[in-house]
Amino acid sequence: MNSATIDTSASCMDDYDPASLLSEQATQRIQSAVAPVRGFEKIHLRAALDRVLAKDIRSRIDVPSHTNSAMDGYALHADALPDDGTRELKVVGTSWAGHEFQGTVNAGECVRIMTGAVMPQGTDTVVMQEHVEQTADGIRIDDRHRAGQNVRQAGEDIAAGDTVLRRGHRLQPADLGLLASLGIGEVVVTRRVRVAFFSTGDELRSIGEPLEPGMIYDSNRYSLYGMLTRLGVELIDLGVVADTREDTYNAFEQGAACADVLITSGGVSVGEADFVKEALEQLGQIDFWKVAMKPGRPLAFGKIKDAYFFGLPGNPVSVMVTFYLFVQPALKRLQGGTDTPPLLLQARCTTKLRKKAGRTEYQRGVLSQDDDGELVVDKTGPQGSGILRSMADANCFIVLPLEAEAAEPGDRVQVLPFSEVV
Ligand code: AMP
Ligand code: MG
Repeated sequence: MNSATIDTSASCMDDYDPASLLSEQATQRIQSAVAPVRGFEKIHLRAALDRVLAKDIRSRIDVPSHTNSAMDGYALHADALPDDGTRELKVVGTSWAGHEFQGTVNAGECVRIMTGAVMPQGTDTVVMQEHVEQTADGIRIDDRHRAGQNVRQAGEDIAAGDTVLRRGHRLQPADLGLLASLGIGEVVVTRRVRVAFFSTGDELRSIGEPLEPGMIYDSNRYSLYGMLTRLGVELIDLGVVADTREDTYNAFEQGAACADVLITSGGVSVGEADFVKEALEQLGQIDFWKVAMKPGRPLAFGKIKDAYFFGLPGNPVSVMVTFYLFVQPALKRLQGGTDTPPLLLQARCTTKLRKKAGRTEYQRGVLSQDDDGELVVDKTGPQGSGILRSMADANCFIVLPLEAEAAEPGDRVQVLPFSEVV
């Protein structure tokens, strides 16, 4: 990575803390520094959910492949429709879905037809069965019908040769159905991105270990595991790393050797036992940022060998917020995805939201609708960056912009609903 792609110069837009970046600037710098992985693989359709297409997909067939009826009714030629009054037609056979009528329909005739059945020779119009009157050997129709009605033309949805999905598209359930409708059973997708991650801190214990006084369980590796799993990356869990120079350096070497991305939590502050910044400086190229946001102010980003590096803060909420804002879009870009950014909505807040000017705050909220259908949002209790309950109880971030001050009940605020990732 060259220093031109990651500009470390102080922002001139923030006079609150001259060294702080705006969170949008941090996102932009990360996004412009990260390039999609090159490899791709061919996989079965059922394994392809949430994977990113590496090539455009064109249809080899027309959809529908044959002109067919959109209704249960009677297929006839438009010339048989009476201009006024009624007309009797003889029913000469039936066209079933999957078993078409073999003959030709002549003047004065029609064919009983089911939804999806091929339109018989000599017909171009379907009259719904509810609109006909039965006669001794056929039906009687009236003058309320239109030529060509209730017929789906071959190629009407997709014509052979049409591009149906573009490279960079992340496959959704509807896409699997769409591709199946084209008879496509395998797709070429970008390879999985490999992500190594570890927690730092002498105070951390893993589940199952005794919790001596002053120790806490490592939760960051679990919330990271959850978010990374939802993004469909390949995970390499490097565990808990002690606050020593040697262990931190070793973990860096190990992670960078096997992964496209290395993520750590904790140890990026300027405390005496914080070796993450130093390790990155020594082993790779570092950008250390204070982002004008809460939670999640310190953030290290850089490159070590060929791996991108994200040094997230230690506090459990800060980890999730910075992952959501910075790591998630970077991983999507690495996957080659051209995903649209998440929706930022407006909602009326129901309680007072305290806030300091000069930083963007990502408070945790519950978004719902009131009796009139209007979006309303409430915060989830105490908002400390160590209080993971505030995330667990939430379904959105309440985004209070840099210059905003406290929001009063009834004010409109911006809301970022959690995507499927958090
Ligand atoms: P640090 O950035 O390492 O100074 O950590 C900031 C705060 O987050 C401290 O209170 C740590 O104990 C806590 N913390 C760091 N890593 C974790 C973790 N993996 N799980 C839970 N808490 C953590
Ligand atoms: Mg620490």
